[in-house]
Amino acid sequence: MEKIALVTGGSRGIGRQICIDLAEEGYKVIINYNKSEESAKEVEKTLKKRGLECEIFKADISKEKEVKKMFDFCLEKYKTINLLVNNAGISFEGLITDMAEEDWDKIVNVNLKSVFLCSKEALKTMISAHKGKIINISSMWGVTGGSCEVAYSATKAGIIGFTKALAKEVGPSGINVNAIAPGVIMTDMMNDFTEEDIRVLKEETPIMQLGSPQDISNAVLFLASEKSNFITGQIIGVNGGFVI
Ligand code: NAP
Repeated sequence: MEKIALVTGGSRGIGRQICIDLAEEGYKVIINYNKSEESAKEVEKTLKKRGLECEIFKADISKEKEVKKMFDFCLEKYKTINLLVNNAGISFEGLITDMAEEDWDKIVNVNLKSVFLCSKEALKTMISAHKGKIINISSMWGVTGGSCEVAYSATKAGIIGFTKALAKEVGPSGINVNAIAPGVIMTDMMNDFTEEDIRVLKEETPIMQLGSPQDISNAVLFLASEKSNFITGQIIGVNGGFVI
């Protein structure tokens, strides 16, 4: 059976690595992006050079109309979808008392509403096929809460609740739903951190190093594979021991 995956936020960072690794595993991958067209094209070129099949698709995943168009494109092109990776996300750092309503709405819509919108569309196909996997990228701050990242933590905790509830709802339909809660991973999301911040974070991590997109992608590959068929509703921490 053909393996078709859609990865949100596949243009950069963790999502980019996930797209590459899934394609290497034999998936035809739809690489979603919103603003970084050049980066998305670079991922597409990298895969096509290796003879791997993929498509890029621009959609703001916080908007229902754009999400629907993206899934219509996927179904028209590949007829099915059996893996959805809800990876795209943004961060917001600052005191909650300084946060504007529009910043709250934006992070909730991009990080959490998008998971609902994309899962809903993917499930239409997965439920009728009685097969499929959804992998959500949460965060360790969704488990523990992070100071000055209250809104971000709330969205990531929301993803955890969503994952657990949806796993119960669609397990009887043959669909696995899991989440990964990464620790500190070196991507553009860490650009505002100083060298000193990075040093302190490394010291706080039992294995004394920060993670890479590859570390998260490895966990995605496992959850996407048949080796994880008996795992659902779980939140897999990939954090070097930062949260135990
Ligand atoms: P990143 O390098 O900043 O990349 C974020 C990705 O999300 C980009 O591909 C971006 O696409 C996409 N994106 C943002 N808003 C979007 C929207 N409205 N519609 C579609 N795509 C959108 O971040 P990252 O570190 O790889 O993070 C990936 C995921 O891991 C996020 O959910 C993040 O919260 C989570 N995570 C990261 C860390 C970490 O330390 N890095 C830790 C825990 C969890 P465009 O640029 O094309 O808009």
